[in-house]
Amino acid sequence: MSDETTSEKLTELAKRRGYFFQSSGAYGGVGGFYTFGPQGAALKGNLEDAWRERFALGEGNMEIDAPTIMPEPVFEASGHLAGFDDMLIECPECGTSTRADHLVEDNTDYEDAESLPIPEVEAVVAEYELACPECGAGLAGVAIEEFNLMFATSIGPGDSQPGYLRPETAQGIFVEFPRLKEYARNTLPFGVTQIGRAYRNEISPRRSIIRTREFTQAELELFVDPADDDPDLSAVADVPLTLYPASEQGADGSHLETTVGEAVADEVITDPWIAYFLGVSRTWYERVGVDMDRFRYRQHLAGERAHYAADCWDAESEIDGNWIEIAGFAHRGDYDLSKHGEHADERFTVFQQYDEPRTVERAVVDPEMSYLGPTFGGDAGAVVAALEELAETDPEAFDAETVTVAVGDDDHEIPVEQTGFALEEQTEAGEHVTPHVVEPSFGVDRTLYTVLHHAYSEDEVDGEERTYLALEPTVAPTFVGVFPLQRDDDLETEANTIAATLRERGLSVTYDSAGNIGRRYRRQDEVGTPFCVTVDYESLEDEAVTVRERDSTAQKRLPISDLAETFTALRSGSLSFDELEG
Ligand code: AMP
Repeated sequence: MSDETTSEKLTELAKRRGYFFQSSGAYGGVGGFYTFGPQGAALKGNLEDAWRERFALGEGNMEIDAPTIMPEPVFEASGHLAGFDDMLIECPECGTSTRADHLVEDNTDYEDAESLPIPEVEAVVAEYELACPECGAGLAGVAIEEFNLMFATSIGPGDSQPGYLRPETAQGIFVEFPRLKEYARNTLPFGVTQIGRAYRNEISPRRSIIRTREFTQAELELFVDPADDDPDLSAVADVPLTLYPASEQGADGSHLETTVGEAVADEVITDPWIAYFLGVSRTWYERVGVDMDRFRYRQHLAGERAHYAADCWDAESEIDGNWIEIAGFAHRGDYDLSKHGEHADERFTVFQQYDEPRTVERAVVDPEMSYLGPTFGGDAGAVVAALEELAETDPEAFDAETVTVAVGDDDHEIPVEQTGFALEEQTEAGEHVTPHVVEPSFGVDRTLYTVLHHAYSEDEVDGEERTYLALEPTVAPTFVGVFPLQRDDDLETEANTIAATLRERGLSVTYDSAGNIGRRYRRQDEVGTPFCVTVDYESLEDEAVTVRERDSTAQKRLPISDLAETFTALRSGSLSFDELEG
């Protein structure tokens, strides 16, 4: 076997067998854009279906499909315009742009340079005398700049309406919250999912489809009442977890093998919703074929966490000795909805009805306009508004003889007796609550890459080296290959009939009559097709066929009439090949 890494071999296989390849190759290609070929598109579709089944349907959540271009005010509110930046260092010799934090991580012991402030990264570049990866020129002393990752565009003719390609699918959910809460009948908790494209103008796209400029996310935004809603942890309590907590990350850090229940009891995971989704997701990843010996959840370090995130963990998979982030799980608090509530014209809250109406004491003002009007003239209206706000936020300010409010640059002092200040009892049916958001955010392309990488296998069959993709039958892009043993009218007719019957059942079937049977098996092994059916002369007599399983290469003789039923069960995972008689 060669010295090539699995990633290198996979890139070659992916191109040759139609999984993925760099786009626009006929025009020289451009970094960070990939096309999924027939197998890749089918695998991606199957992974998305599996995700939808678990995270939308399986949790009773709603799925939406929002536009990928959104107007500028959305990203002003979300903070992306001001802060969705990466650190860029440009080589003064050859002009190559490099991500400064990656340069540091690749060439020093720093594991998480992204969380460091720019001057510190500049200092590390100087201290280690780091050089341009392209031409080798020294980069010490070169200033690092913030580079915004959003692709800008303009909406309509002219440039009056700036827009951006969304850098995450989440904003498409948040901005529609005022309508989505109606569909959820104003009842928390409720979840909204979206599977769709996101765009980031990555400084240095790399490692095949792991870091691209256009990719697919599958995101769930769960809106919860912070005071009231808890997940059903008993459903996932026994799910095993491999954790890499913040406290372990450093020189001699090690993984913690635990369960969801224990991790919550030991306060390793402090947020119950995050714990719930780590459990659900671990089971899901295993089901779609991620190798659990090469999978972990890593907690964000304090400096790495977004300022609003209470706790944050990433799902990571191991690829040729490196851990890559394939999903993020964050408790985002009320950050997103509060921000849109401040910037937009609609309400980003849910009215939560109390079980019983409550009597509350409210501070109110009823200012004496015959005093305020002549005293403050045109400012009188603003003074009233300021008094109302002060009564609500700081009623004790009215305890003195006079009260002071600011209007513009001026402080106005008003005798309290002129404000009509009073404490009134009011009956309230409920209150407006800004929901908190729990967000599992999956990268579909990175999941697909992990599934392929972990499935990549080599062995020896009949003295010959073989490459195969041990993909799970549930997601394999081609489920079964149907072959006539030879080119013969009767065999081909029977094989075609079988293929058509299986296709009618919704299975993905490939028909192949070219070349010797061993070569046809190898071809399907390399594509990752879990089963092959061979129609031979005996089949025409006994109405049975040979079914071969990819990983073991074991063969069983099964009646043609059972095939559709059997394959449907094998695909869903309710039956295994070992359990089959034949
Ligand atoms: P983030 O919002 O950065 O936490 O990204 C959420 C998920 O999207 C990550 O866990 C990745 O799986 C995926 N992702 C982010 N950036 C890229 C990229 N440039 N290319 C492919 N996938 C990405």
